[in-house]
Amino acid sequence: MAKHPLQFIEVPRRDPDKQSADERVQHYGEIYGQFDNADAAQQAGRCLDCGNPYCEWKCPVHNYIPNWLKLIEEGKLFEAAELSHQTNSLPEICGRVCPQDRLCEGACTINEMGAVSIGNIEKYITDEAVKQGWRPDMSNVTDAGKRVAIVGAGPAGLGAADILAREGIRSVVYDAYPEIGGLLTFGIPPFKLEKEVVQQRREILEGMGVEFVLNTRIGEDIAFAELVDDFDAVFLGMGTYKYVSGNLPGEDLAGVFDALPYLVSNINHQLGIDKDPASLIDFAGKNVVVLGGGDTGMDCNRTAIRQGAASVTCAYRRDEENMPGSRREVANSKEEGVRFLFNRQPVEIIGDTQVTGVKVVETRLGAPGPDGRRQPEVVPGTEEILPADAVVIAFGFRPDPPDWLAEHQVESLPSGRTRVATHGDFPFQTSNPKVFAGGDMVRGSDLVVTAVFEGREAAKSISKFLGVW
Ligand code: SF4
Repeated sequence: MAKHPLQFIEVPRRDPDKQSADERVQHYGEIYGQFDNADAAQQAGRCLDCGNPYCEWKCPVHNYIPNWLKLIEEGKLFEAAELSHQTNSLPEICGRVCPQDRLCEGACTINEMGAVSIGNIEKYITDEAVKQGWRPDMSNVTDAGKRVAIVGAGPAGLGAADILAREGIRSVVYDAYPEIGGLLTFGIPPFKLEKEVVQQRREILEGMGVEFVLNTRIGEDIAFAELVDDFDAVFLGMGTYKYVSGNLPGEDLAGVFDALPYLVSNINHQLGIDKDPASLIDFAGKNVVVLGGGDTGMDCNRTAIRQGAASVTCAYRRDEENMPGSRREVANSKEEGVRFLFNRQPVEIIGDTQVTGVKVVETRLGAPGPDGRRQPEVVPGTEEILPADAVVIAFGFRPDPPDWLAEHQVESLPSGRTRVATHGDFPFQTSNPKVFAGGDMVRGSDLVVTAVFEGREAAKSISKFLGVW
C-alpha cells in the first residue's frame, strides 16, 4: 500500500516500552524494550524524506539516516544493517547511549510533532539483524599485508579496528581491562547498556579478524617501544580517565567519591569481576549528594537509587535548560526518585573525618564565557548545607598522558590532550609519524559517538599512511 504523505501526523511517534520506575529500580538491566519488525517499519515510515537531512549533519558520524529508515520501512533489514555500518562501527551502542535529543532527533524536521525515533531504530537494526544471522560483508576484503597496534579497546579503538579490518589491515587491540569497551563496559551502567551488547560487538569484530589482547597494560606488561617497532603503525585511543577535581575544601573526607571509581566498583561487582564485598562502594540506606549535571552524574544518581540509597540529591550550578547531559537521562533520574537542585554551586564539603553535608550557594546565569555557555554567578547570602552521608563528584574527566608517550616523541598539550595533525595528508597523526591518536585523549572528554568517529577517521588516515587507502 502506498505510504500516506502525512504519515508522520497520522502515526504518532512511539518508542519501545519503558519499564515503570518502580519496576526498573529493582534491577540493573536495560529499561527499554525493543521494536518488533512491524513497529520499526511503521516508525521508520514517519520519516518525511524531507530533502534536508539535518539529522545526518547533526549526527557526529553522519549516518545515512533517511536511507536506512527507508530500507527498514521496506523490510530490508540486512541491507539496512550493512548501510548503517558504512558510517558507524557501533550503531547498536550509539542507538542506546547517544543523547539523541541533542543530536539527530533534535534536528529532525518533524521534531515539533515528535521526531522520528532514530536512536531506537538504529539499535533495532543491528540487534535484530545480528539475531537473524547478519554479519558485516567482508567478501571483497583482501589482506593488505600490514599490521597496526591499537592501544585502548574503547569506542575510538573499536572504530579504528573496524575500518582497518575493512581495509584488509590486521589490528591487535590492547587494553588494561579484562573486557573490551573501555567506559562502555566499565563506566556506563548496564541499565543503559547491557554488557552482552558489547560482548556481541567483540564477537563481530573478532569475526572480522580483529585480535584483542586484554588484561595488558602498555608501559608495564609490554613496552610501548615494542609496539612501535613490531607494527607498521600504532593508534592510541586511551580515553580520559583522570577526574576533574572541584578543588573543594573537604574533598578528601571519608564518604566522598569520584564518579568513575564509584561506577567501576559497582559494575565490576555486577559482572562478577570483583567478588570482594569490602571493595564495593555501597550507598544502601545513605543520603547521597551527587555534584554535576552531565551523563556521568545521571549514571551515579541512578546507580545510587538502585543500591537503595535513602535519598539522592543532584546539585548542578546552572539551570535545567543548560545541563550538559541528555534530557532523557535527566527525566529517567527524576522518575526514579532523584531530587534535582538547579542553580546550586558547591563551595565546601562539610565534616570532621566523615562527610556530613555539602555547603552550596545559589547561582544565576550571567554573560557567556569563552565556551559560549552562560556562566553561573553566585547570589550573595544564599548559603545552605545539604545533609549527606556520601558525596559523588561528577565534574568530568580529562586525559592523563603516560610518560612513555613523551619518551616516544608523542607530544601532549598543556591540558594533557594529545597533539595531532588536524589537516594535511594524515589527520590524527601525532608528532611521532608512526603513531596516530583519536577520541577523548585528543579532543577531551566527549560523547561515545564522537570517539567512534575519530577512531574511524584516524584509521582512514593510517590506511593512507600505509599506502592502502
Ligand atoms: Fe543519532 Fe547517535 Fe545514531 Fe547518530 S549515532 S543517528 S546521533 S543515535
